[in-house]
Amino acid sequence: MKFFDPHIHCFSRTTDDYERMALSGIRIVCEPAFWLGQPRTSVGTFIDYFETLIGWERFRASQYGIKHVCVLCLNSKEANDPRCVPVLDILPEYLDKDGVMGVGEIGYDDMTQAEHDAFIRQLELAAERECIVIVHTPHRDKKEGVQKSIDAVKEVGIAEHLVVIDHNTEETVQMVKDQSECWAGHTMYPQTKMSVERAVKIVERYGTEKMLFNSSADWGQSDPLNVPKLAFELRKRGHEQEDIEQLLWHNPVAFMAQSGKLDISQLDEADGGVNPYALYEGNTILRN
Ligand SMILES: [Zn+2]
Repeated sequence: MKFFDPHIHCFSRTTDDYERMALSGIRIVCEPAFWLGQPRTSVGTFIDYFETLIGWERFRASQYGIKHVCVLCLNSKEANDPRCVPVLDILPEYLDKDGVMGVGEIGYDDMTQAEHDAFIRQLELAAERECIVIVHTPHRDKKEGVQKSIDAVKEVGIAEHLVVIDHNTEETVQMVKDQSECWAGHTMYPQTKMSVERAVKIVERYGTEKMLFNSSADWGQSDPLNVPKLAFELRKRGHEQEDIEQLLWHNPVAFMAQSGKLDISQLDEADGGVNPYALYEGNTILRN
């Protein structure tokens, strides 16, 4: 089986992780721009970061037969820092580059006015381009955050099928489904927040339509193998391979392909898994 992790911060992961991901069947990843932890002091650091995501990180993934695409933005946390906001002036140029599927992850963190302004402005950029959007919802006040995110999407009037409202929990999936045409994203974490087991229950309750599942693995406690682990749990509970592949491969492919920029012609459609040895052929594996 092959997998697409539609939200993972490879920048913060090791090359060993890429190897484990490849061996587990992950063939495509989408990396949203996010907060790196250390406050940025100038817009120049965003340029370097964006260039890393469309350059070095794409190359590093390719060494393991993984296709790396990304979405770029000013994230919500940094929207509160006046030193960071001017990145919005250079963002459009980056959104038009190859391999950039759209805008993300944008949304609310503390739900401040500055976050709202940056969120709306970037939804407008996405609406103009008809590209996809990954919306981060806050971990505190989840319900209010999801509600405000849906409201912002409606305020701008972007086509809702281009948007995924991410990091849903059991108490918010229904809100996204009832109130919008947006996709519902779910992040599985190893310890806190939503586990793989809880994700299984969500799949069993809501089905697969417009549903996405990701690891959001980053520099915090997280697991880049949570997408294949979800497949494993679903299989154990008797779900059909076809349905699992719909959820964890065809869904993210369909969502990202709306950008018009997802080229998967280079991927071997025929193989159901990955031959680890094939990945090494003709490739120089990176060494420190
Ligand atoms: Zn993220």
